[in-house]
Order: sequence, then C-alpha cells, then structure tokens
Amino acid sequence: MDKPHYVIVGGGTAGWITAFIVQDSLRRLKIDARVTVVEPSKIPTVGVGEATTAAFNVFLKSFGIDEFEFFRKTGATFKLGIRHEDWRRKGFTYYGPIDDPHQVVAAPPGAPSDYLNVYGIAAGRPLQDMHMFGPLLMQWKAPYAKKPDGSLIRLGPFLHAYHFDQALVGRFLASKSSGVDIADGVVSGVERDPQTGDVTGLVLDTGARIDGDFFFDCSGFHKRLIVKEFAAAWVSYAHELPVNRALPFWLPIAEDDEIPNYTRAWAQEAGWMWQIPTQGRFGCGYVYSDEFLTPEGAKLEVERVLGREIEVRSDIRFQIGRLETPWINNVIAVGLSSSFLEPLESTSIHGTIVQMMLFARRFLGRPETMTGDHRADYNRRVGRQVDDFRTFVNTHYVTERDDTPFWREVRAHRIHPETRERLAHWQRQMPRMTDFPDDLDGLPHIQTQLHYPVLEGLGLLRQDVARAEMAADPALRQFARDTYESLVKEYRAATGQALGHAEFLRTVRDMP
Ligand SMILES: Cc1cc2nc3c(=O)[nH]c(=O)nc-3n(C[C@H](O)[C@H](O)[C@H](O)COP(=O)(O)OP(=O)(O)OC[C@H]3O[C@@H](n4cnc5c(N)ncnc54)[C@H](O)[C@@H]3O)c2cc1C
Repeated sequence: MDKPHYVIVGGGTAGWITAFIVQDSLRRLKIDARVTVVEPSKIPTVGVGEATTAAFNVFLKSFGIDEFEFFRKTGATFKLGIRHEDWRRKGFTYYGPIDDPHQVVAAPPGAPSDYLNVYGIAAGRPLQDMHMFGPLLMQWKAPYAKKPDGSLIRLGPFLHAYHFDQALVGRFLASKSSGVDIADGVVSGVERDPQTGDVTGLVLDTGARIDGDFFFDCSGFHKRLIVKEFAAAWVSYAHELPVNRALPFWLPIAEDDEIPNYTRAWAQEAGWMWQIPTQGRFGCGYVYSDEFLTPEGAKLEVERVLGREIEVRSDIRFQIGRLETPWINNVIAVGLSSSFLEPLESTSIHGTIVQMMLFARRFLGRPETMTGDHRADYNRRVGRQVDDFRTFVNTHYVTERDDTPFWREVRAHRIHPETRERLAHWQRQMPRMTDFPDDLDGLPHIQTQLHYPVLEGLGLLRQDVARAEMAADPALRQFARDTYESLVKEYRAATGQALGHAEFLRTVRDMP
C-alpha cells in the first residue's frame, strides 16, 4: 500500500504544532506516512501570540519534551495566571490563577465538583488564597524550588502555562519534528478530484507541485484552502466581541529585572492592553474596537497611560468568529485559519493544541478511513469548544464600567444570550463542572477552574446562594473550611521556598 502523504500548509505556531502532533501520532498508530510542511519564507507569520494556557504544558509532557530545554531555547517564561486590571471598575484588580485546588484533595462522597470554591464564596474568603498559584502570582515566583544539591524540584502537581515568542517556538518545534519535509513556497494553485472534490495536490509559486492525501490549512488569516478553495461558512462573533484590531509594540526587560509570572490584561477606553513578558522583553499590544477608536487614537492613549512613547510594530485587523465546518473533505483548518477571538484568555494556541490532540486521538488514520461521520463529529465538538471560548470572553464584559462609549455600548447591547443564560443559571446555583459537557475527551477546556476567579473578580456570584448550598451539608462545610485553611497554610509555606521567577529563568539558562 502507498505511503499516505499528510501536507500542512503554513509554518506558523499552528502549522508546527500540527506537524508535531500528527507526525508523533502517526508513528504511534504505526502508519508509515510522509508529512510535509509548506512554509513560505515570503509570507511572515502573524508575529504575536505569546500567552498560552495549561494545554501547552500538557502538550510538552505528552510528547516528552524537556521543559528546561524549552525555556532555554525559546526565551519562554511562566504564566501562572492573568492579572485583570480595571475591568470591574477603574482601580479594581483581580487575578485568575490557572491551577485548580480541587485536583489535590479527594472530595467527600456526594460533594459538588466545586465545593471549595462554593465554600470560599460563602465565607467571603478570596479564592486565590487557596490556589498554589495565588501567592506565587503575588510574589512573582516560579513553581519550583532549589534542592540543597542545586537541582530544581517542582512544587505541586499543577499544570502551568507559558509566555513566549511564537517565532522561536515555531523553530523549536520544527527542530523536534524529525522526519518532516519542508517546502518553501506559496500555494498558488490547488488541484482537486472532480468526482469527490478532495484536494489532490498543491502548486507552489516556485513551480513545484506537492501531491497529497490529507491537508491541514494552517495558513493563518490567509485561509488559503478552507475559504479560498472551499468557501467554508463563517460564524461571526463580531457583535458580542467588538474588539477587532490590535496595535502591538514591545517594552524592554533589562537583564536584572524581576519578571512577572502573569499576563497583564489591563482594560482601556475601547478595549484592553496585554503585557506579556518573555525573557528579554514585554510583548504588548492594545486590542481595541475600531467602531470606537482610530489607530492614531489608540497609540495616543497607550502613550498617555504608559507615560512613554512606543514604536508600533503593525496594525492588525481581525475577523472575530469561527468556521462553521473547519473540516471539509480532506482538509482541516487549524489555528487562525479556523477561528479567532481577542486574546483575553489565550484561547488560540490552546484551541490548536486541543483540537489536534482530539483529532489525533479520535479521527486520525489513513486518509481513506476518515469518513463524513468523523468530519461531522469533529466539527460539532470544535464548534462547541470555540463557542465556549466566546461565551467566557464575553462574560468579562459584564462589568460595572460605564465611563466611555465603548463600555456603555458593550454592557448594554453586546452581551450574548448564552452569556446571559449562564449567568442567570449561576444566580440560582453555583457553577459546577456538569455545566460544561465534556466534548473534548477530558482535554483541557475553559471550565469552572477558570470561571470562578473571573466571576468572583467581576462580582457575578451570589454569596447567599453559596451559603445556602453549604448550609445544606454542614459536614461538607466543615471539611471545606478545614481544607481551605490547610491549603492556604501549605501554599504560603511553598511560596516561601519557591525561587523568584527571574532567578529560576537564570538558573535554567545557566544549566550545563
Ligand atoms: C493581536 C493578536 C494577539 C494574539 N495573542 C495571542 C495570545 O496571547 N495567546 C494565544 O494563544 N494566541 C494569540 N494569538 C493567536 C496566535 O498568534 C496564533 O494562534 C498562533 O500564532 C498561530 O498562528 P497561525 O500559525 O495560525 O498563523 P500564522 O502565524 O499567521 O502562520 C501562517 C503561516 O501560513 C503561511 N501561509 C500563508 N499563506 C500561505 C500560502 N498561500 N501558501 C503557503 N503558506 C501560506 C505563512 O507563511 C505562515 O507560515 C494572537 C493573535 C493576534 C492577531
């Protein structure tokens, strides 16, 4: 039987994550295949996108990639959570640690999934204090300590995330994807089977021709195959998520500076600003709605709030939404070619990893074994995943702010019905894991562990409802109180032992 050929169009983060997962999974499935990445030197990658979620940690672990090498080669830093500033109202800050304390304590039989969160809200105690990442975030520390012999030991079992430069990570993954062919050229023509409509080959602007059996469209906003060839329908989120333009810039980090271990998401007059530290600089940007602000106005606003001039690196406009069917015939769109929404909860690279891990587990096989039922199933699951991202990000806009036309418009008219429905449900019952059906085979998703800190930070949970749930089970309440207190104590002590974030990064850099 012929060796099947899997072709990935695009060598950005999505292309290389896809290449990595597909190649490794084909090997595990014992499918003797060729994998090619079409990576044109003429078209740059998007050049932003530097905060991830815990899914990246899952990805590194699943594929046996050494984390310390990853830090050294990519300039990555830890991301333990997000610092949300000025969202609820100006001057109000809350943190979203990404670890889940429920993971380390066996719940008493019959306890609801989030009983520690429910207890925290009922007792009016800050949820972040019972997270290991809570005190680490406040003190800019790494989830590692140094042993007397100088080696590093991980504190706690929690999955962390990273900040990084996507171009360096692309190169790093390329270096780890042994046996993948690379073709330098822009896809300028597509050949298809007249009977089935399947893609059979690509023509590059160099004149080269690449025949293939299965194709991944990782061409970013160009959407070269999935839209230009297949005209896939678009589900727009532009109404409820009006932030649609970005003004990226960098700020320096000096060699001896301390480095935060969080993404800073700082609400502004018509959107919000991100600040993401890598080892050598802050990648920053103002993502705003151009219904309310011009690029010139955005630059002036940033310079005013930072009190310094900035050098704008580009002006990026994006469409907010997702493809209705990212998998059509023998083409799957992954990454920016498949969906995008403002990077508030770092859902993009996360989505790519989860989608490709799901695809590899459930559907990947020899091309002739993948069926229409597989496509429909994958498209449904991924559609739900991205709709959940939309609803979660939209929830961040249910705030008290009414100080600019943007904030007044968003709170009055741009809250999606599903966001309202979920919030109304959580007025009657505290959020539970069962509110989020698992369509992703247990792969990381936006569930209660990420919702609670945001809902608490925005003041959207009801203490009386939490109290009633706790009062219904006094033994559980006592257990939750004792657990909360012991976790706070344990994590304060662990933070005392933890290395400073910058010190950790220097230690790893200096390793032989
Ligand atoms: C303002 C902004 C901020 C972001 N912040 C975050 C964040 O904090 N966290 C996060 O997870 N994500 C973020 N993202 C998204 C993140 O950047 C992307 O998910 C990630 O970089 C993957 O991009 P990609 O590989 O899909 O596309 P790209 O990086 O654009 O790569 C596309 C590839 O396709 C190739 N290509 C294009 N056309 C053709 C063609 N005709 N033929 C052949 N090849 C072609 C290009 O050369 C390139 O190699 C952000 C995005 C934006 C716009």
